Formats: sequence, C-alpha cells, structure tokens
Amino acid sequence: MGALLGLAISTARAAISDATSPAALFAQAEKFHWTDQPRFVGVLNQLHQRESQLSPAQRWHLRYLDACQASLQGSVAKDAPILQDIIEHSGDPVLVTRATAKLITSLAISHQYEEAFKLANTLMIGLPQVTDVSARAQALRSIIQMLRLAGDPGQALKYARQLDPDRVPSEDRCATYSYKVNAISGAVTLSSADPELLRAIAICLADKQAIFANTLRLDRADLLLQEGHPEQSIALLKKIEPSVRQSQFKPHLTALYYYLAQAYLSQGHAAKAKKWALAVVTASDPKNFTWPLQTAYNVLYKVEKKAGHPVAALSYYQKYVAQEKAAMDDTKTRALAYQMVRQQVLDKKLKLEALDKKNRILELRQELAGKAQETSRLHILLLALVIVVIGLWTFRLKHSQLRFRKLARHDGLTGVFNRQHFLHEAGRVLQRLHQADAGACLVALDLDHFKRINDTYGHAAGDEALRRVVEICSRELRGSDLFGRLGGEEFGILMPACTCEQGIEIATRVRRGLSAAPLKLNPETTVVVSASLGLAHSTASGYAFHQLFTDADAALYRAKHGGRNRLVVDAGAGEPVVANADTPDTANA
Ligand code: GH3
Ligand code: MG
Ligand code: MG
Repeated sequence: MGALLGLAISTARAAISDATSPAALFAQAEKFHWTDQPRFVGVLNQLHQRESQLSPAQRWHLRYLDACQASLQGSVAKDAPILQDIIEHSGDPVLVTRATAKLITSLAISHQYEEAFKLANTLMIGLPQVTDVSARAQALRSIIQMLRLAGDPGQALKYARQLDPDRVPSEDRCATYSYKVNAISGAVTLSSADPELLRAIAICLADKQAIFANTLRLDRADLLLQEGHPEQSIALLKKIEPSVRQSQFKPHLTALYYYLAQAYLSQGHAAKAKKWALAVVTASDPKNFTWPLQTAYNVLYKVEKKAGHPVAALSYYQKYVAQEKAAMDDTKTRALAYQMVRQQVLDKKLKLEALDKKNRILELRQELAGKAQETSRLHILLLALVIVVIGLWTFRLKHSQLRFRKLARHDGLTGVFNRQHFLHEAGRVLQRLHQADAGACLVALDLDHFKRINDTYGHAAGDEALRRVVEICSRELRGSDLFGRLGGEEFGILMPACTCEQGIEIATRVRRGLSAAPLKLNPETTVVVSASLGLAHSTASGYAFHQLFTDADAALYRAKHGGRNRLVVDAGAGEPVVANADTPDTANA
C-alpha cells in the first residue's frame, strides 16, 4: 500500500482569479498536478512561454513544478537535480521543505535509501519550524512514507497523528486522509469496510483527486481479496479501471493488473489470471523489481504448473525467485540504510553532547581560573593591607617610642635636656673629647632672684620666664653645645672643642643676652632677668664631668656672692677670675 503513495504531492493553494496572470497559472498548475495531468502539462507550457515575466520566486516555483512533472513521468534522474538545486539555492523555506519532501520520494523510488533517510531526518528536525500548513503536511507525509519503508509503522503512526485533515487547505484534505489511513493500515490490520478508509475514498473522489482515490480503492480491493471476497475485489477493480487508465499512473496500472490476476487465480480462472499477470509483465520494466511483477511471476508459475507446462513454470519460478530475492535485498538495504542513518544521527548527537560537555568543562575551568585569579588578587590585596597595617603600626610604635624617649630625655617645661640625660650625654661627649684631646668648657647657670618673679607675678609667669630664658640661651649657643636644665632655675652648658676664651665669649653672650632683653611674660608683665654663670675648662679641671661640674658650680657660687649677673671662671689651683659683670649686686649688697 505504501509504495502506491510513493510520490509526494503538491497542492493548489490560491483561488483562480485571473486565469491569464502568472499567479493564476501557478494556482491552476498546483490544482491540476494530481487531478488532471494533461491540463497540468498545458499550464506548465504556458508558464514556460511567459518565463521572462516571472519574478525570481516564481521561476523557482516553476522549476519545482517541472520536477513534479518529471517525477510523474517516473523520471527520477531528471527531477532529483532540479529539486537539489531548489533546496540549495532558492532561499525560500516553504519551497525548500516541499522540494525536500519530493526529493525524498524520488530517492526512495530509485532505491537511494540512505540519502532519502538522511533528508527525512533533516525534515524531522526542521519540522517544528515549518509553519506553512500545506508544506508541513507535505513534509509529514514524506516522513511517514519513509518510516513505512523503513519498517517502522509505530513511528509512522506517531507522525500520522500530527496530520490533521481538518486543518489543512481543502486541496490537501484528500492527500492528508490518504496518508493517515495508510499509516494506520501499516500499524494495524484494516478491514475493507473500515470507516476511515471509506471516508478517505469518499473525500478524494469528492475532491476529484483521482490518483489518491485510486490508491485507496486499490488498497481496498487488496483487503477484499485477503478477506476472501475475490468477486467483490474484481467488481471494485473493474469499476476503477477506466479512472486508472485515464490517470496514466503506471504503478496503479500494474497494481490493478496484478490484483485482477490474483483475484482470478483465487477463483480458479487460470486463463484470466494468466492474461492479467502477463499484462503486468508487459507494463513493467523487466530490469526493475516491483511487488506486482514479483507476484505476477508467481501467478504465472502456478498457472503453468497447473497446466502441466514444467519448462514455462520453471522459467517463471526462476523469475519469481529473482524478483523475490531483489525485493528482499531491497528491504534489507532499506532497513540497513535506515539503521545507518539512525546510527549517524545518534553518533552526531553523542558527539554534540560530548562537545557540549567538553565546552562546559572548559567553561568551568575558565570560571575556576577566574576565581583563582580573583582569590589571588584578594590575597595580594589582603597582604598589601596587612603590610600597610603593620607599617602603620610600626610607624606609630616608633613614633610613640620616640615620643617617650624624648619625654624621658627632655625637660617637660623648656624642652632642653633634663638633668639625667644632660649628665649622661655630657659624660659621653667629654670622653670622646678626651680621646681627641680637644678642649671643653662647662658652664653652670643660675637665674638671679628668681623666687621674686614667682612671688611677684605668680608661678605661671615664672614658668613662662623659664621658657623665654631657654630660648634666649639657645639662640646664643652653638649647634654642638649641650644645654640642659639641672633643676629649678639652674642650667648646665657643655661646650665641646672649645678653648677657655671661646667658652668665656659664648657664656658672656648668653649672660648679656639675658640681661639685655626685658621678658614680656604676658600683656601686663615685663621683667628683666639676669643670671650668674660659673665656667670650668678641661685644661684646669680635666675631662671628668664630676670635677668639671664641681669647679663650674664653685665659680657660680662665687658669681652669686660676687654680686650676681656675672661670669666667674674657675682658674684651677688659683683664685677664680671674674670674667665680666654688668650690674652690682643689690640683693646681697
Ligand atoms: P638667687 O639664686 O639669686 O640666690 O635667688 P633665688 O630666688 O633664685 O634663689 P633660690 O635658688 O633659692 O630660688 C629658686 C627659686 O626658683 C625657688 C622657686 O620658687 C623657683 N623655681 C624653681 N623651679 C621653678 C619652676 O619650675 N617654676 C617656677 N615658676 N619657679 C621655680
Ligand atoms: Mg637656684
Ligand atoms: Mg637663683
């Protein structure tokens, strides 16, 4: 039954409004394709005469119709290249789907099953994208046909269920019904009185779709024969004979003859059976193998055998066996091609899946590498942060260490060395000077009558006076001189690398600097401060701090008692000498 539907169909899709316009001619061609072959050829000729007026899309359409005509004539060699060209170059998705469906049929007819199955697979994959109802129905019919050929009626039925005869254009109704019934008959045994079958025949007859109507009626004749009603089968075959002859569709003619031969044989009419079996042989190409030809040889073999013609019987039997073998080979080839394509598709799918997995792994790796990079960036940032924090912490530690050291070494009020640090530093410097044999002077300085300032102006004013005194002294000293507060208003000055004369000069500058400048302690208070100084030199006192200090202090004592505001220089074993004095001492006076 499937082989009879072995040609894809085209349909009329537009109403004929203007019989002379190319569009109208195309509509006519589509309509007559399956219903009226001579008129179909006529319209095609008209279109070819007007080819220069056609749009590029219409020219592709005309090529498609040319391929339809070639396949109607059974010329696969002619239609396949045209259809291939349309698929590759037309760029029209609807036409590509129709050409693919048609090419599948052509390839199947010429036993190029592998190519046909490959294309059918392409159609299956692309099917969800096919929105044109008619092209979709045509694609489905082609897929069903291939699945039937592959011996997979279950799958064929699955696709047949997607065919909805009520939703296709009215021109496609009959074909859609036919394929549906055909798919059902492949999956289950139909009865000759099956309502679906009868309905499909009625619709195809009503739509004047002679070829489809005949396909279904030939199938029904076969079913009647199988059900044991050869007389009904013969009646039906005789009834459709004129229509089959008129359609000139060769597969139908041979099928008609072969069913008649079978029916007559089952009735025991050997002569009639032989006549129709020979008609099959005459109408068939002996090089080809077809189901009717194979069965016709079988009928002829039986007839000749019964008639007692063993030579003829043997000859037909050999031909029958050759046909059967070819048919079996073809079936095997089909099944093999189907399995091969399925395997190829599966392989491709697996490969794609593997590729997909590989890509995913690659993606994950990249993601991981990105994350690792991010993490190492974070680590670096964290490390930098830790370094900065440690740096800051170290800096602050050092800073506070320095601050504490400074606090520990310096006098809080005046900022000069405190007593302890001054003694320590002076001892160290003196030791170095001793080694270098460089002279040094030590001056002891005590402010005169300082108590009075406190008593008169308050302790705060006294503090300010102390700070100002230190400022003035520092201004007069050299950078290398050590200056320290020894306690209260008493200070020490060590002058390294210094002769006695140089020391006297510096000490005098200090003393004069103090007494010369009245100190402004606050907006209301200005005081004059003087100091008494005692100087000892390493030449006389040596380099031991203790001795130097004792001698300087003794000289200072002299200065106080000598009248204050003066410098007294220790002279070793001799009497200390008053180096200079500005004011007579009034307090002690
Ligand atoms: P002289 O040395 O000339 O004999 O007289 P004087 O008044 O300076 O005598 P004395 O050395 O006895 O007094 C020192 C005074 O210095 C006692 C104290 O009031 C004051 N004094 C000591 N240390 C500080 C201080 O840190 N701040 C203030 N404001 N006064 C201080
Ligand atoms: Mg004092
Ligand atoms: Mg004093």
